[in-house]
Amino acid sequence: MNVADSQRVGSSLEHLGYTFTDTAEDADVIVLNTCVVRQSAEDKALGRLSSLKPLKEKNPDLVINLMGCLVGVRGAEKLREKLPMVDVFSPPSDPGPLVSYLTQGEIRTIETDETTRRFEVMDGDLLLPLHERGQLVSAHVPIVYGCSHACTFCIIPYKRGVERSRPVGDIVSEIRSLAAQGVKEVTLLGQIVDRYGVDVQDGPDLPALLRIVHEVDGIERIRFLTSHPNYFSEELMDTVAELPKVMPHIEVPIQAGDDTVLKNMKRGYTQGQYRDLVAKIRERIPDCSIATDIIVGFPGETEEQFMQTFRVLADLKLDVAHLARYSSRAGTVATRRMDDDISDAEKRRRFHLLEDLQEKIVGEINAKLLGQTVEVLFEEKVKGRWKGRTPTSKLVFVESDADLRGQVERVSVTWTGPWSMQASLVRQPEISL
Ligand code: SF4
Repeated sequence: MNVADSQRVGSSLEHLGYTFTDTAEDADVIVLNTCVVRQSAEDKALGRLSSLKPLKEKNPDLVINLMGCLVGVRGAEKLREKLPMVDVFSPPSDPGPLVSYLTQGEIRTIETDETTRRFEVMDGDLLLPLHERGQLVSAHVPIVYGCSHACTFCIIPYKRGVERSRPVGDIVSEIRSLAAQGVKEVTLLGQIVDRYGVDVQDGPDLPALLRIVHEVDGIERIRFLTSHPNYFSEELMDTVAELPKVMPHIEVPIQAGDDTVLKNMKRGYTQGQYRDLVAKIRERIPDCSIATDIIVGFPGETEEQFMQTFRVLADLKLDVAHLARYSSRAGTVATRRMDDDISDAEKRRRFHLLEDLQEKIVGEINAKLLGQTVEVLFEEKVKGRWKGRTPTSKLVFVESDADLRGQVERVSVTWTGPWSMQASLVRQPEISL
């Protein structure tokens, strides 16, 4: 979500005539887009901010914009005193305060390299930053802002505000403009993406939106994340299975495999219901890969409750498990009402047990692909090899002198590991000399 938000700010500033610099020292405006999902992320953001202090002292005209969850949707009154070097505070997903500050509220006409545009804060017309135009293959598009759930460990609803679905027209025109700038794959984003449209009377829901986005010329692949188990409907499964551009990869977190822990987290489902959901997804979407999130060491989690999570992961054999050790966040229900009573060492032990299990599971899943032919959308060259993803979001590297950026190619898998695979092109593309 932050990557998408940063692109939007970059786009707005380029409309104003600004260009990107390689270093902070060369900049007239610095935007620090922050995440506070964990205390360590917040500490890092504040550390980065104080490292900008000497630049501000050297150049008092430098504009420093603090953006994102550190500011939150409730404004910055408390932060202003604490962070005097910050000129502009912006809530998540909103370039508006920075744009108003830089333009002093005027609407301007800006000359860009392509066209003369009347500047305004746009929604639904995303001009990628210049250095990404024609280069970026895969882009993120927010479709739901905020979250109205109240998982007890989570700070996001307090920082990003209540759930708001973006109007379908804005989403589609943004995706059209991305396609016109060379983007081939879009990932639709929401904290609970499968609740898209719930807050809009008579608006499309996620299956309907997928059908609309499917019609956008130039877009070859569509993904969406993150889903919540309670809202993943059979209609959504059938839509994924039916639409060829919608990739068979689902991100649906379980968070814990024990019902008492799930209740304490206020997730709203049982591990049995999650198991049923996975079975149904696998039945209705052939060859679908599934990713989950798990937190270990939640307050009060006993050894037996942790082992329940271990067993769920061992049984379900999912393609990806994003693992996290519980960390207390000031302001959350868990921090206010529960004792963070699992030691760091124990959290680490549980984390590593799941990590080892998952490495084995994914290693076995990927090994089945050895010698198989799969389709890969290539994104960029990294250290001499082209990097791309299969429809199921598996990372593939290929050596080739051809320009594969943005191309979907059939490849034959020659090596597999738990985190990536190597492959060779089935068709040898022409190399332009
Ligand atoms: S669903 Fe729960 S974990 Fe996800 S953003 Fe909302 S409150 Fe946080």
